[in-house]
Amino acid sequence: MRTHARAVVIGGGVVGVSTLYHLVRKGWTDSVLIERKELTSGSTWHAAGLLPLFNLSYSVGQIHKYSVALYQTLEQDTGLDPGLRQVSNIRLARTRDRMDEYNYYAGVAETIGVKVKFLTAGEVKKIWPLCDVDGIIGAIQHLEDGYIQPADLTQALARGARERGAEINRHTTVNAIERLASGEWKVSTDKGEVVCEHVVSATGNFARATGRMVGINVPVIPVEHQYIVTEAHPEIVKRKAQGLPEMGVLRESDSSWYMREEAGGLLLGPYEKGAPACYIDGLSSDSEYELFPEDLDRLAPHIETAIARVPAFGEVGVKKVYNGAIAYTPDGSPIVGPAPGLRNFWLNEGHSFGVTAAGGAGWQLAEWIVEGEPSIDMLGVDPRRFGPYADTGYLIAKNEEAYAKVFTVHYPDEERVAARPLRQTPCYARMKDLGAVFGSVYGWERPNWFAPQGYALSETDLAKPDVLLNENHPAVSPSEKPREKWSFRRSNYFQFVGDECRNVRDNVGLMDMSAFAKCEVSGSGAEGWLNSILTNRAPRRTGRVTLTYLLTKRGGVRAEFTLTRIGPERFYLVSAAALETHDFDALEKLLPADNSVRIDKVTTQRGVLVLAGPRSREVLAKVSDIDVSNAAFPWLTARRLSIKAAALIAMRVNFVGELGYELHHPIETQNAIFDALMAAGAPFGIKPFGIRAMDSLRLEKSYKLIGRELSIEYSALESGLERFVDFDKGPFLGRDALVAWRDKGFENKLVTLEVQGVTDADARGSEPVMKNGAMIGRTTSGGYGWRTGKSLALAMVGPEFSHIGGDVDVRILGETRRAIVIPDSPYDPQNKALRC
Ligand SMILES: Cc1cc2nc3c(=O)[nH]c(=O)nc-3n(C[C@H](O)[C@H](O)[C@H](O)COP(=O)(O)OP(=O)(O)OC[C@H]3O[C@@H](n4cnc5c(N)ncnc54)[C@H](O)[C@@H]3O)c2cc1C
Repeated sequence: MRTHARAVVIGGGVVGVSTLYHLVRKGWTDSVLIERKELTSGSTWHAAGLLPLFNLSYSVGQIHKYSVALYQTLEQDTGLDPGLRQVSNIRLARTRDRMDEYNYYAGVAETIGVKVKFLTAGEVKKIWPLCDVDGIIGAIQHLEDGYIQPADLTQALARGARERGAEINRHTTVNAIERLASGEWKVSTDKGEVVCEHVVSATGNFARATGRMVGINVPVIPVEHQYIVTEAHPEIVKRKAQGLPEMGVLRESDSSWYMREEAGGLLLGPYEKGAPACYIDGLSSDSEYELFPEDLDRLAPHIETAIARVPAFGEVGVKKVYNGAIAYTPDGSPIVGPAPGLRNFWLNEGHSFGVTAAGGAGWQLAEWIVEGEPSIDMLGVDPRRFGPYADTGYLIAKNEEAYAKVFTVHYPDEERVAARPLRQTPCYARMKDLGAVFGSVYGWERPNWFAPQGYALSETDLAKPDVLLNENHPAVSPSEKPREKWSFRRSNYFQFVGDECRNVRDNVGLMDMSAFAKCEVSGSGAEGWLNSILTNRAPRRTGRVTLTYLLTKRGGVRAEFTLTRIGPERFYLVSAAALETHDFDALEKLLPADNSVRIDKVTTQRGVLVLAGPRSREVLAKVSDIDVSNAAFPWLTARRLSIKAAALIAMRVNFVGELGYELHHPIETQNAIFDALMAAGAPFGIKPFGIRAMDSLRLEKSYKLIGRELSIEYSALESGLERFVDFDKGPFLGRDALVAWRDKGFENKLVTLEVQGVTDADARGSEPVMKNGAMIGRTTSGGYGWRTGKSLALAMVGPEFSHIGGDVDVRILGETRRAIVIPDSPYDPQNKALRC
């Protein structure tokens, strides 16, 4: 075994071997892989090998697309046939919601270059004659989809890596990983030690054990997953003898299973409710090619529906049932990227579709390691999308839920219920009493919208189509009735959100944004350091506020911060709740070595109430101890003040485009402030408002969000951030690349669109934008603007299509809508409301 290597990959499943393969293809031929037993002896050997392209996540969709393309080339590259069979994949639909999902997905797929075809029930029958199409209202087909032999795929990747110089050590167990004073890692095994620059953990169901070696909590706990293989069926054998093509993979989404031909018989894979988490305390040291006893009772409802749909399945005996551990994460997407808090330690873990994802995840991770950045926006799979709250109890509940929801309709407004309520701010109960219908972000409960007192969905609203899964509303406790119905279209809460928006426009609204990520940056080097990493100049005067961005070294946008100077050597940074770990990790990894800058995280110590609307100043004036007039407390400034007895920092900024204040306070004083504001605001019509109203209000201001309008794939200037990039303040991270990108010319421009002819389905983001039938961009957000009375979308389009007044088409749920490019900030373009 080599004693030194550029990178050590731990784990010889398909994911680890693919990472190694891509590292060596990027030139890191002195990389090493370490596997405790045989290659594929973890989860990989027993995978059914399906390669579903279908995925609503942008990051995962891109990863899967790359994999399928790569697997087609492997035999030529390595001489080994990975057993790829592109037999196509059909997903059936029995409900309108399901067809909406497919139509939405088809748009996402088009924007990332994945081909999807719609089929009628009759067409399904022609391709899958053994399928009874009764009740099927339509289907989608991926022609390039299919399956592969997971072990052969792994061996092909291994040969490709070895032939380029990589070393693969089997029957070698990593026991310890240690950071050396040099900054390198020492990986200790039962056969010796390797010192390396980078470590990649690709240890499948061992992920948490590997994480413990370096002191991190990897949010992966596997769940049991079974599939059934039948004896040969005469019909299928006959088809084969006649030389007929394989019928392809059939997915009955509304009954939550997949089926395909296997050796003349059928293979059925259900995703059932109640599949238990497993290996919670880890695996035994001798585990290898491990399976659990079968549990067919749990699968009974799925087997019944499978027999109803494909009667042939019930006509033959069961040959074998595989019940293996499948790695899961709380949202069901894998964990690919840098480990939080550790330099040069990388995770490629938590893969539940690891055979499908291995190619793309290995490719992007290798790019990230070798070049410092991935080229695809990987936020959807970034390990830093979870926080410390995602520990054992949470993982068991959420990962079991994620498994059970693989086939449910993925509504864009779905709020899953497991492990909730978890993180509650002090005003949670008050908001609940006011009718809050909560959503969850980063473990926090946040009001999404407010239902009128006594409001509940009717029995008709709740009537569920006759399908196995697919609740279209949250399950609530027996004492409560559901109040929201999820949909791809305008749903029951639409008008109530409108009421909240109008109240913010006309009177004053109060919102709980305590989940914001918050930290203080201090020290003699703080100002210089912030100026060297962020796009906008750090405020020179105490009490000034700016918006500023952290770029990638290529000039894309990694993070957004509201930056306030709160003292001579002290700054306060606020960023998105969901990105707390991500943003802090990015900042900490950039800290100077001389200890001149210190970061104190204060997210859970500070609450944030947003007071917004034309009457907000009058409310604040009634309860605070300072002059809050425009002259004394102008826009983009911060003041220390007291509301009754509670001291806090008020910032004149907000994300809704009205006169307003963010009130950052010690969390334990929140209810005193909340009560004072509600009492003082009563004569001015104060009412709470939620995230859905905020999203509508920010769209009307063309305000941007990380992960949508802002991404590592778009330069800060394509996203319209000119005002926040100060090229004259000296060098900063990404500056030179951004200038070079600008000189080269941009491929995209962010525009605001007014979508015409919308009746009940606004854009949501990720819809294709077309001109004369050709795709010219994609929406990044969309919704209805209540102040402007317009259906709006933000979109990235080719610069030649960005002129004001130009028209384009937006495809929303399969319908083409004309849209006009309008000036940014259709509501109050001069920012009069904000500045007054
Ligand atoms: C029944 C079933 C069916 C499935 N079907 C599909 C499917 O159709 N399509 C699909 O895409 N996915 C499928 N999957 C999921 C798929 O199997 C996994 O996502 C994939 O195999 C994960 O690969 P991996 O490399 O991450 O993990 P693994 O294959 O588990 O590899 C991890 C390796 O790390 C090694 N290791 C761990 N710790 C150490 C250490 N300390 N030192 C050295 N080595 C170590 C282990 O020995 C193991 O070999 C299925 C899973 C199950 C259970």
